[in-house]
Amino acid sequence: MFNALLVEKDDAGKTTAAVQPISEDQLPEGDVLVDVAYSTVNYKDGLCIGPGGGLVRNYPHVPGIDFAGTVAASDDPRYKIGDKVVLTGWRVGEAHWGGYAQKARVKADWLVPLPDGLDARQAMAVGTAGFTAMLAVMALEDHGIKDGPVLVTGAAGGVGSVATAILAQLGYEVAAVTGRPETADYLKGLGATQIIPRDEINETTKRPLEGETWGGCVDAVGGAMLARVLGQMKYGASVAAVGLAGGAGLPATVIPFLLRGVNMLGIDSVMQPYENRLRAWERIASDLPMDKLEAMIKPATLSDLPQLGADILKGQVQGRVVVDVN
Ligand code: NDP
Repeated sequence: MFNALLVEKDDAGKTTAAVQPISEDQLPEGDVLVDVAYSTVNYKDGLCIGPGGGLVRNYPHVPGIDFAGTVAASDDPRYKIGDKVVLTGWRVGEAHWGGYAQKARVKADWLVPLPDGLDARQAMAVGTAGFTAMLAVMALEDHGIKDGPVLVTGAAGGVGSVATAILAQLGYEVAAVTGRPETADYLKGLGATQIIPRDEINETTKRPLEGETWGGCVDAVGGAMLARVLGQMKYGASVAAVGLAGGAGLPATVIPFLLRGVNMLGIDSVMQPYENRLRAWERIASDLPMDKLEAMIKPATLSDLPQLGADILKGQVQGRVVVDVN
């Protein structure tokens, strides 16, 4: 038997999450069994620990959309016992049992070998949020980052913190948008040179174009903020659209695309092809300063997860929570 955070649903449809012992036979099918070392907390985890958000198909459920650990058994020639691995995406922790347990059984196709220079704890300090931030930076690079500061929205959150640290390390000037003024020192520590209060950029404007300001943008917020940012991009610059912390709507016009050649790049971490995953994890190991990653970490255990799940849904988590499942 080993411990897992099990979410159960009663006849009235109410869910409750608690740490409980489970056995290996209860794990779903898969070709690799992993001894999980660490997991983390993402917005989707908040939904899956709580009411489900339409993501969880069956109960009881083990959430945890990402994990890192060591292969304990494998029916796949690509992995052998003792290999260090990381998993993000593929609807693990939603449709399939996830990383909030001391063991997980998954498809070999979903795993990525941990890159040299990153241990399991650091990999989960990065987690889906940081992996997605790296995908966003890679997409901006592929389309060309223009002169001028790169804007990061939702900067004190997981995606925003890692994007800020990577962009600063790569030598870009980073402007961080936050609704939490108390995180200014934290964001400056990650390398942001400008702190922009959320309200300054969240207000809607009737003007489809404003002054050309940003050479690129990693956007974790969406909604009115993304609409506003599109009109502030430099000619030919790109916005990597990652998240919807501020809303899924996009009350924008097409004018920035037509008159300024602005690009909006969609970033999906869940179904990302394997080769790009490898490339992103290798870039994380080389371009994310580990001392800055360390500054983002908030340690937690399985029993902290019900509270943390509620906190992240309210936008109250700063940086990266690292869950030691053991
Ligand atoms: P976090 O909760 O850690 O960060 C989100 C941040 O957005 C908050 O910390 C806050 O930053 C800001 N924010 C929250 N609410 C609002 C609001 N109403 N208006 C404006 N800003 C707000 O989440 P993550 O960083 O883990 O994820 C960010 C987003 O990216 C989420 O929507 C998530 O679902 C999405 N995501 C998408 C992925 C993909 O594959 N495309 C993968 C991973 C995440 P601050 O306090 O600094 O203002």
